[in-house]
Formats: sequence, structure tokens, C-alpha cells
Amino acid sequence: MVYRRTLRREVACTGIGLHSGRPVRLRLLPAPAEHGIRFARTDVGVEIPATLGHIGGQDHATTLRHEGVSIGTVEHLLGALYGLGVDDARVEVDGPEVPVLDGSAAPFVILLHEAGLRPLAVPRLHIRVKEAVEVVHGGKTARLVPCDHFEIAYTIGFDHPLLRHQALSLRVTPRSFTEALAPARTFGFLREVEMLRKSGLALGGSLENAVVIGETGVLNNKLRFEDEFVRHKILDAVGDLALLGHPLLGRLEATKAGHALHAAVAQKLLTTGGAWDLVPGGAPALSPVAAPALHPASA
Ligand SMILES: [Zn+2]
Repeated sequence: MVYRRTLRREVACTGIGLHSGRPVRLRLLPAPAEHGIRFARTDVGVEIPATLGHIGGQDHATTLRHEGVSIGTVEHLLGALYGLGVDDARVEVDGPEVPVLDGSAAPFVILLHEAGLRPLAVPRLHIRVKEAVEVVHGGKTARLVPCDHFEIAYTIGFDHPLLRHQALSLRVTPRSFTEALAPARTFGFLREVEMLRKSGLALGGSLENAVVIGETGVLNNKLRFEDEFVRHKILDAVGDLALLGHPLLGRLEATKAGHALHAAVAQKLLTTGGAWDLVPGGAPALSPVAAPALHPASA
């Protein structure tokens, strides 16, 4: 039997919000079994559960909302919690966005290593995909199909010479998440940065927390992986699928998808009768995974 897990102790960090550009303090705290992952906006006294039912926006990042209060850019932190196997935790934030840090999930993985994990006295259940479900929108698709473990196969293609085609398929475990996904950073096109800023977004964005793609190449000196872009999309998908509220036994097959499609296919699974059930999982062991070796973002 595998048990739900929470943090061993409280950890904290401070950073700026990608879109607001303002400093935010983040605290991660242990929580009782069945608490799930909940964000607490300590500045306004509202708690926001990290579930599909609380999605409040998916424009460039995933925002959760409850009682008129929102918390933005949750997906990299949720990816790290899911990727390392944390089921129950309280996330305190004193502003409207999770800090962007270096634009990846690696700093959150390091924080979680610092916190340590401990099992709770309640068995952990998985959502098992029994029948394939699919969402198609324009040339974009996201499909969930049965699989004995949690796997993601992702293909991206953009109208840019550097990014015509990247594809990667991998089984998501604490080790593969830590080594192959967590360090992959957010990316954006230089041509879009101006537009985002005009609409009041990406005000905290810089080469310190995003890979920026110009006409002929990336503006940052170095990528962390040759295919960092598709790896980041998989990281985003892990964070969005975390909103299911249980770890997944299934395979996500995504082509040119994004936050909205990740959530839509998860929602479709839950609302399709007979497409899933809840089963105790043979989940990853509690053995610690080495913290990721970080290359400086612009060294
Ligand atoms: Zn992202």
C-alpha cells in the first residue's frame, strides 16, 4: 500500500511575479491527509483549492480563482508538487501570483527537497484512465489513453525556424521529473513580448526567468537542453494535470496543445462516464532523488 504524502517541514522563498513584476513571498507547509493542494492568499484571507473546478484563466499561464480572489502562474509549482509525489500541502502566497523564480520548476524541486516528505496515514489513490478521451481544437489535440503508469508524449510546432518540430515522450517519475523536466524554462517569442507588455502582462519577465526567441535564435546564451521547449510544455502539462486532484495512471498525447487543452482533456475525462476509476497505485518509493544540478540561466 502506498500512502499520501505531505511535507516534513515548512519552507519559504521570495521572488517576483512574472506578470505583475512585484515581489511575492511563498511558504509551503505540511497539511493533513485529504487536504489536497490549497493556495492561501494571506494578503486577503482567501483559500483557493488547486482543482479543475477552480480554474479562472489560462491565458499564457494557469490562474485559479475562488470567491472572486485569484492566484496566477501556479503550474510550475503544481508540477513540482505532483512530480515529486506531494498529495497534501498548504501554499501561502501574499500576492496574486506565484513567484516565477527562474521560469522553471527546478527552484521548487530544491525547496521540496529542503522540506523533505513524509507519509500520511491514508492510502493514495490514482485516477486510472479506462477509455481514451480526446479534445481537438484547430490543429491542436490532447488525448488521454490507458497506460500502466503516468506518461506524456508531446509534440510542438511553431511558425519559427527554431521550433518547427520538437517531440518527446517520457514516463513521469520523481527522478525523470527532477532531471528531465523541472529545469526546462518558460519560453516566449521576442515579437510577442511587446504585445504582452502592452496588455499589462510579463512585466516581471526577463532573460533571468524565460528563454526569449528572436528572429535568428535564442537571446539567452545557452539552453539547458537542446529540446528545452518541448520539455517545458511537458512540465506545464504535469502542472495542469495536477488539478485532477489525484495522480494519473494514463498517457497524455498532446500536439501543439497548451494550458487550456490540458485542462479541457482532464475535465473531459472526469465528466465521461466509465472513462476512469480510482485505484490504489503502486507509486514511486519514498527514496530521495538527487536535487537537480542547475546551470545558470544566462551563463
Ligand atoms: Zn510554463
